[in-house]
Amino acid sequence: MTFYQLIFDFIRRHRRHYLAAALMLCAVAMLSVWIPRKIGRLVDALVAGQLSTGSMFAELGLILLMGLAIYFLRVGWRMQLFVASYQLGVQLRTDLVQRLCLQGPHFFQEQRTGDLMALGTNDADAIELAAGEAMLAGFDGSLTLIMVLGMMLLGIDWRLTCMALLPFPFMALAFRRITRQVHNASHAALSCFSQLNDQVQESIAGIRTMRALGLEQRNARQFADLAEQAAAASLRAQRWEAAYEPAVGLALTVAGVMTLALGGYLVWHGKMSIGSLTSFSMYLGQLIWPMFAAGWVLSLLERGRAAWQRLEPVLSLPLSVEDHGSISSLPEGEIQCRDIGFAYAEQDSAQAALQGISLTLPVGATVGLVGPTGSGKSTLIRLLLRQYQAQQGEVRWGGHVLSDYRLEQLRSQISWVAQEPFLFSATIADNIALAKPDASREAIEQAAKLAAVHDDIMSFPLGYATLVGERGVTLSGGQRQRVAIARALLINAPLLLLDDALSAVDTGTQTRILQHLRHARAGAGAGRTVLLVSHRLSVVADADHIVVLQNGKITEQGNHATLSGNQGWYASQWRYQQLEASLDAL
Ligand code: ADP
Repeated sequence: MTFYQLIFDFIRRHRRHYLAAALMLCAVAMLSVWIPRKIGRLVDALVAGQLSTGSMFAELGLILLMGLAIYFLRVGWRMQLFVASYQLGVQLRTDLVQRLCLQGPHFFQEQRTGDLMALGTNDADAIELAAGEAMLAGFDGSLTLIMVLGMMLLGIDWRLTCMALLPFPFMALAFRRITRQVHNASHAALSCFSQLNDQVQESIAGIRTMRALGLEQRNARQFADLAEQAAAASLRAQRWEAAYEPAVGLALTVAGVMTLALGGYLVWHGKMSIGSLTSFSMYLGQLIWPMFAAGWVLSLLERGRAAWQRLEPVLSLPLSVEDHGSISSLPEGEIQCRDIGFAYAEQDSAQAALQGISLTLPVGATVGLVGPTGSGKSTLIRLLLRQYQAQQGEVRWGGHVLSDYRLEQLRSQISWVAQEPFLFSATIADNIALAKPDASREAIEQAAKLAAVHDDIMSFPLGYATLVGERGVTLSGGQRQRVAIARALLINAPLLLLDDALSAVDTGTQTRILQHLRHARAGAGAGRTVLLVSHRLSVVADADHIVVLQNGKITEQGNHATLSGNQGWYASQWRYQQLEASLDAL
């Protein structure tokens, strides 16, 4: 969709507001041209001595009243227009966020956070201004122009009007050149702002690392350079925008001088009254607004167009995972991976993250997935979540391939805890109840107890009401992981995926959580399938089935007893980790 299609489509949908604004504007324009005419006649009557004091005050009172009406109508039509144009900002931001929510990790790998933030703020603002301020000035300017020109042409003198219009084609040429420059400069300014946003975002996110490495000064210098570049780009855009004004001023001055010469000549020869020349000069003065409005409209439209050129590709980028599922039922039953092959965009097929993976997760089973770092464990989890689509083979849940389900349906049936979970700036209770906001306090506490984090929470002065995240307390890595596990357990979804979610938890607490999970399977959590990914083999030792991944391939599988009796990676790692644990215990 082009920028102008977007704006016209929006105006069509909000035509009632725009129409009301246009009607009020027409009234303003008519009153505005009526006043100079009235004053012209008043001057003529005064010169001719035909006006009594009483009727002069009555006329002046009427003019004052009209001025007041203009004021209220102007307020009214601006309100109508802005009520509509703010909706465009809301619509663009909502579209952007909805689109972002549907995109997979691949999209976020390609896009920078600061850039996306700039699109939702600065760029959306620029487009909103084009639908509001630009339309306001465009309407008002065009109407005033038509009315004023009409009055000049038909009401006063056509020769004088033609003379006044002579400099304006030159002004239009100047506008054309300025407009092109404003577009380029605006595009550059918006991009610079995005880079600045990126820098701020990264500086804040990485502030601890930066401090630890003593890089504050270097970072401040880099930021100052970028801020300098962004300011220079904005200045360039504004300098070009400022060029509209002198062009208008010059055209109007030339028009004024030329009409005064011709008007003076006509008055001298008695072909025009002084009142008419006064009215004409006032009309000429009224042309200042439409001309300035034209410059302003062009610059706002160019800024909006430049912003749309940046926003539109992000909105229309295909989803990294398509969501065309048509099954109405929720996924349930056994999960089967058949001969899965998957490589990230950056990988060639020889180094594919997963190759020939066939695996079954029976209902209610606990399956362990282990292997060295980079062996493909998290990738398999991402495929189960449909964050990516396997290039080979298929994953079936309850007999249907995952793509048959809508993403929302699929993900509502999965509780997933990542190794580095994200906690929002909210209370601990709200963080646990994130996916189930109506959960009772008892249910939240029960989930926290299962995740062995209840006692930690109660040790904070505000307990479950403690704020975490940027504005609250900083939880340790292990506490964060356990809050995230509590969040996942509260949902009670049929598939629980723990992606190295106990890596920062000590072994004693880990044992308690695993015991709780086992007990839960005997009660409320019965029928829940659990996939435990871990680099620590003690996490999976009690699992019903253990799968070992190495270089994207399954190299061993079985239960703990079988695997530890083999001479493979599992057995050697088990011995190594047991030795490590006994050394730690010394
Ligand atoms: P594990 O979870 O077992 O540590 P991963 O599934 O994270 O392993 O990674 C498997 C392989 O895929 C590794 O070689 C890793 O470098 C690569 N990889 C992981 N994520 C990405 C990504 N987003 N883009 C490109 N390559 C990736």
